[in-house]
Amino acid sequence: MAKNYAIGVDFGGTKVIAAVVDTARGKVKGEFKIATSAFDSGDALMERIFEVVDGALANAKVSVDDCAGIGVGIAGQVDAERGLLIGTANLSRSVVDLPMADLLKKRYGIPAVLRNDVQIAAVGENRFGAGKGCDDFLCVFIGTGIGGAIVKNGEILPGASGNAGEIGHTTIEAHGRVCGCGARGHLEAYASRTAMTKVILGELRRGRTSIITDLIEGIDPTSNDVSIKSGILKKAVKAKDVVVTETIVEAGKYIGLGLASMVNFVNPQRIILGGGVIDSVDLLFETAEYWTRHEALPHAGAMVEIRKAELGDYSGVIGAAVIAADTANA
Ligand SMILES: [Zn+2]
Repeated sequence: MAKNYAIGVDFGGTKVIAAVVDTARGKVKGEFKIATSAFDSGDALMERIFEVVDGALANAKVSVDDCAGIGVGIAGQVDAERGLLIGTANLSRSVVDLPMADLLKKRYGIPAVLRNDVQIAAVGENRFGAGKGCDDFLCVFIGTGIGGAIVKNGEILPGASGNAGEIGHTTIEAHGRVCGCGARGHLEAYASRTAMTKVILGELRRGRTSIITDLIEGIDPTSNDVSIKSGILKKAVKAKDVVVTETIVEAGKYIGLGLASMVNFVNPQRIILGGGVIDSVDLLFETAEYWTRHEALPHAGAMVEIRKAELGDYSGVIGAAVIAADTANA
């Protein structure tokens, strides 16, 4: 008999969250999350995952034997077929070729699958969120970086090496800023929350005044460790702060230019935009939507539906659990 639950894990750039999910209804029964930082070993990374999975099972009061499987999505390059983490630039440069699915299976005794973090979110939104009833869409998540996935005929389009949908690493300025991946002018270097933080800190260093210095007590604009959270950006925009508003409008325009290229190239029925900063800051979503339609070919730009993701923090864990359950029950 098919089991009612599966475990989903979403391993992002700043936090890792696990949830026990009722996969028939798309409901989270119990969750557990912790902040992440960089890792120097595969063991340390796996320990972090075991900790959140154990925590989620305890909070859900569900036994692992009642779960069909474990699905993990991680911000990195994965070999889905072999359940292998090939590498993760944002989390660790030393962790390569980590057999995550096998290690999870060994520890919990149930099937385990591995995907990248945007792919799991796209599946979550497709099954229970803003992608419901739509088999042909793009998912773009703005956070520490910018991730994307292409869903075609209800299936994630992996590409020849699993990299399809990497909109964050498309070129929007030929001689632009250096991106985290090392190349120049990529969208992620202009419109991720990390990029917006850098721009705002730069303006503060240049002596401009902003409500940011009131909202984040003791902020040091010369530090590389400052991260301006989505909720702070929202408050600043609401207070009509000029520096933050300019930064958001500029980032939104770049997102729109990137999306317009995708609209012309893929001609999707729908685009789902997610991530904390999209969720919190309407101005960013609206600016991105305006420029997408403005810059795309007229017919494709007019017909594409642009929506916010609906599952919030849960898109990834729900999608990961759904993939695990589908795989186990196949
Ligand atoms: Zn890049």
